[in-house]
Order: sequence, then structure tokens, then C-alpha cells
Amino acid sequence: MASSSDEGAVLSVVKKRKKGLKSVEYKREHVKRGRVKGLEHINYASKVVAKKKIGNDCKCKLKCFGRLLEGDREEIFINFYAKETKDEQDSYLQALVEVVQVKRRRQQGDEPKKPRSRNFKYYVTCSSGRQQVCAKAFLNLPGVTKGRIRRLTSLLLLGRSPKDLRGKNTSGNATSGEACILVEDHIRSFQPKNLTTHQEK
Ligand SMILES: [Zn+2]
Repeated sequence: MASSSDEGAVLSVVKKRKKGLKSVEYKREHVKRGRVKGLEHINYASKVVAKKKIGNDCKCKLKCFGRLLEGDREEIFINFYAKETKDEQDSYLQALVEVVQVKRRRQQGDEPKKPRSRNFKYYVTCSSGRQQVCAKAFLNLPGVTKGRIRRLTSLLLLGRSPKDLRGKNTSGNATSGEACILVEDHIRSFQPKNLTTHQEK
């Protein structure tokens, strides 16, 4: 059983940790919101991340940017950042991707069970309707990365919806008060006395 003075010490440790937790939580919220809303923010590396804007014209044969009115492009961008969470954004984007089974002409000697190569069709939607765009326009319009789309398309092939896994692991900075106490107890078990005994062996 812990004596009352020990309890007092433990409580002050919890209090201290909680105060630290608050600023960690604030920082995490700031970064998360900045990312989801495409706002200018300071990231974990203390660097300023600029406000998101519509990416460059894809300049492809389909002339995706040209086919869309400027207002449509803005609407697509605004609708995307109006979503409240990264999950919602990802589900929204994933719903605009279609898997196309590419039928390849089988050449003589080909294995009959060779998997077909897959391709995707990308669409954007706004008040003037839904239309197909190239992959580059699909990611440049909301200004998202290739990696993010690749993740969504891989999940689509698996028949899975995107789920945000970021921040689900307990980070070192956000150790709970209880865990702190356990760690401190553990450290206390390595008191000099014990270490000396260990060394004498
Ligand atoms: Zn294009």
C-alpha cells in the first residue's frame, strides 16, 4: 500500500502529465484541422504548411481543366475541404473512382489464369454534373497527393473503404497518466541498491 505522501507525489505527477497532454492535444488538433481543411498551419516539424489551392492544369489530351468551368473547379475544391474529417474526404474520393477490368488479348502460350491488369476511371462531381477526368486532374483539383489516391485505389480493389489509421497509436508524447505511473514504478525498480546487488553477482 502506498503511504499518503506517495499518493501526493503520484497525483502531482498525473497533474503535470495532464498539463503536458493538453498542449500535445492542442497541437494535434491544430495539425489535423489544418490538414483536413487545407488551411495554413504549422506542422510537427514546426514548418509552415501553406494553404491548399487547386493544383496545376493536367494538360492532358482530354483537356480536363478546360472542360470544367472555373466555377466548377472551385466548387470541387471547396466541397472537398468542406468535409469534416479525412475519412469523409477519402470516402468521397473513393466513390468517384471506378475499377475497369482491362481485357487483354490473350497471346499464344499465355497462362490462361494470368491476372488481368486493372485500370481506374476517375470522376469529379459538381453542380453542373459528373464527368470523367484523368488521374492527374483528379488529384490536382482538390490538391491531394498521388500516394493518397494510390491508397484509396488499392483499398478499392480489396473492396474496402478507407479508414484513417493515423494517430490511432499512442504516441510517446501522449502517454496516459496511468501509463506514466507504471513507467515510473518500473524505473524505481532499478534503484541503485538493486543495481549494486545485480553487479555483485
Ligand atoms: Zn486531364
